[in-house]
Amino acid sequence: MQVITTDVVVVGGGAAGCYAALQLAKKKIEAVIVCKGLVGKSGASLFAGNLVIGGGLLGNTPEQGSNTAEFLIKYHNQFLIDQNWAKRCGQWIENVYYPELEEAGLYFRRDDDGNVVTNPGKIRSVAANTQGNSGVPFMDLRRKQVMKAGIRRLEETVVTSLLRRPDGSVCGVFTVNCMTGEYSVVLGRAVVLATGYSDRLHARSTGTREMSGDGIAMAWRVGASLVNLEMQWWHTNDVAHPPTWQRIQIYPNPVLGSEHSARMVNSAGEEFFNQQVDDPMAFGPYTVQLKALVKQVHAGKARYDGGYYAGFDHLDPKEIDAYTTYGKPFYQLGRDPRDGPLETAVTAHYRQGGILVDNSNMRSSVPGLYVAGGVSGHSNGLIALVTFDGKTVADGIAADIGQLERGTLSEAEVELERRRIEAMLATPGDGFTPVVVKEQIRRIMWEKAGIEKSHASLTSALDDFERLRTSVLPNMKIRNRTRVANYEWLDVIDVHNMIDAAELIVHSSIERRESRGPFMRTDFPDTDNENWLAANIMVKTDNGFRFEQSPYELPFFQPGFARRNNMSVPW
Ligand SMILES: Cc1cc2nc3c(=O)[nH]c(=O)nc-3n(C[C@H](O)[C@H](O)[C@H](O)COP(=O)(O)OP(=O)(O)OC[C@H]3O[C@@H](n4cnc5c(N)ncnc54)[C@H](O)[C@@H]3O)c2cc1C
Repeated sequence: MQVITTDVVVVGGGAAGCYAALQLAKKKIEAVIVCKGLVGKSGASLFAGNLVIGGGLLGNTPEQGSNTAEFLIKYHNQFLIDQNWAKRCGQWIENVYYPELEEAGLYFRRDDDGNVVTNPGKIRSVAANTQGNSGVPFMDLRRKQVMKAGIRRLEETVVTSLLRRPDGSVCGVFTVNCMTGEYSVVLGRAVVLATGYSDRLHARSTGTREMSGDGIAMAWRVGASLVNLEMQWWHTNDVAHPPTWQRIQIYPNPVLGSEHSARMVNSAGEEFFNQQVDDPMAFGPYTVQLKALVKQVHAGKARYDGGYYAGFDHLDPKEIDAYTTYGKPFYQLGRDPRDGPLETAVTAHYRQGGILVDNSNMRSSVPGLYVAGGVSGHSNGLIALVTFDGKTVADGIAADIGQLERGTLSEAEVELERRRIEAMLATPGDGFTPVVVKEQIRRIMWEKAGIEKSHASLTSALDDFERLRTSVLPNMKIRNRTRVANYEWLDVIDVHNMIDAAELIVHSSIERRESRGPFMRTDFPDTDNENWLAANIMVKTDNGFRFEQSPYELPFFQPGFARRNNMSVPW
């Protein structure tokens, strides 16, 4: 088995992982990126549609700068965010992030006069080349930068567990190369988990094939505390059919260079959301759209998995074709956007929560384990915000490096993990194939821990998971025993992470006894700022877990009420 030694192991090759490795390299700290897919080509990062600008960038007025901060804190995080962190991050985005991207040659879309195109309105954004496709050139740039910096990459290689020193601190990872089936160990002084958050844990999800909650499951196994796992975000308007299009959006959000955007229409043909009319404040008003949809579902005029529509039939297609890819799904279906809207459905999108970190250095609660990006639970993602995490974690590790010992190999621990993974290839069962079990987990999450949930539905989900654990998982059927490119084997590895992550999310959902933005409990319909304007922290104990609450400070923006029905809260 290959053993690689480095300073820092970065797990994940999205926006956060790449930037962490680049910043470490700048500081002469060697990093190896281990990535389940290709660096820059896997995970959520390449799906970023546009890039929000803040502060005084591109002629933003002080009011627009303040609106962007308000959007981030209220609409994007429902106040579950350290507002001082948000301020630091905003300043860095303005002063470093955008200038650095321009210098590196990322092209921000210009109009014929050479001006960068933004959307008008209270909160503005830009696109790298085209709105709807910004993540692709962005991550192509990151991939090139990583290669140019000579950073070693283990691609299409899944990390299956975190390895520890005898004192419990994290010092490496165990990996399986998905193409060859070979095992390796990568040892470092520290490990950065940057595995993202858009996990495919629900029947519909924007997450990619690689996203199976691995970061959460692995961190929990080594004892890291988790936070706000229940805070799941939903896209209200992804294409309903075919299922492979479930992350293709018909955004009712601002269109670049236009005053208009998509509108939402119910099964009776009635418009029920139009951004310009209903919510000009929120740039990405998913929660506002979701609440509008919930009312339609309650009225029997939509379902969460379809039966309502979004589209651009109220505007000239030239407006959407000028700077966006938003017409593409219509054209690919042989339709004109003016023909009428497309059927859309809800999709699980970001998870705001994740691994508990100290956001000043991205340390987790386990020594040696650092976290960056979406899998950290301190802020709902956006490509700029997760990049700031990459910078912060590199600064944090650089400050700690003198105290971080070189990684040491525990042959017993490695052998244990090798046997665990090997047994997954040799599963003797004749039950369901792992891909069917994945679908079962996603169905349970969708139906019982989905958009609207209650204590009864959540505990019923736990019962279902228990049944899967005892009678389905040990009996999974693997038809393909090869080690080479065996995605069925990878599916078994994923299933174990998915069920662990899903159960943790459900426990966390039971604990938060309120409704807040996209988190909707039918048995606790109020947003309860008296008791729940707090981080919901899950701490591992010898015999399970316990919850702790940590209230958020509110130095700049406050909700302005103690308790109110979530459906009447504007954010
Ligand atoms: C459909 C969609 C639209 C979006 N639109 C926007 C937008 O318009 N603007 C914006 O700013 N943001 C947008 N975002 C959010 C943005 O893309 C994310 O905030 C950001 O990309 C998260 O970056 P990350 O590095 O944390 O995770 P990711 O980019 O998800 O990267 C995770 C990485 O971890 C790897 N990985 C996972 N598990 C393992 C494992 N076990 N072993 C090894 N590697 C592993 C994956 O292969 C991947 O490389 C969007 C996201 C989606 C899904």
